[in-house]
Amino acid sequence: MIYSIVKFGNSVLEKPAESVTAFDDDLKKLVEDMFESMYEAKGVGLAAPQIGISKRLAVVDVTFKEDPKAKLVLVNPEIVHTEGKHTQPEGCLSIPEFREPVTRARKVTIRAQDMNGNWYEKTGEDLLARAFLHETDHLNGRLYISHISALKRDLMKRRIRKLMKAGEW
Ligand SMILES: [Zn+2]
Repeated sequence: MIYSIVKFGNSVLEKPAESVTAFDDDLKKLVEDMFESMYEAKGVGLAAPQIGISKRLAVVDVTFKEDPKAKLVLVNPEIVHTEGKHTQPEGCLSIPEFREPVTRARKVTIRAQDMNGNWYEKTGEDLLARAFLHETDHLNGRLYISHISALKRDLMKRRIRKLMKAGEW
């Protein structure tokens, strides 16, 4: 099942999500649907709040289907280590058409559970590190625009409000 992506302005995107406690068939189905929805939206990461489900769950595939081993399921993820700095344009499926440079750590270690509830650690660099931080932010109710200047953010919000008024958001 393909979910539609919740856009900026919906409060589900700006509140902390709840921990996942049930590692059952419903979770597996949800993960499958999230990968499908992410690929459909041409994204490399998707957090559950972005489909209106306030749970600490995200999926990532920075290779976009090229490497099946790159498909990562992040349940209740935490950032355990960050290193270096890196500035790259960043976007979000919930804020379509916009991109802004964001400075983030270049190397990030995450601790998360898989679909069966087993904890694992994984270190990512560059785009994968960025995805870990971006998706974990989502689960804390934080969007990437909180990392850009207030001036740029206000400008962006003004443009979004115009789109909303025109019914184009
Ligand atoms: Zn996002």
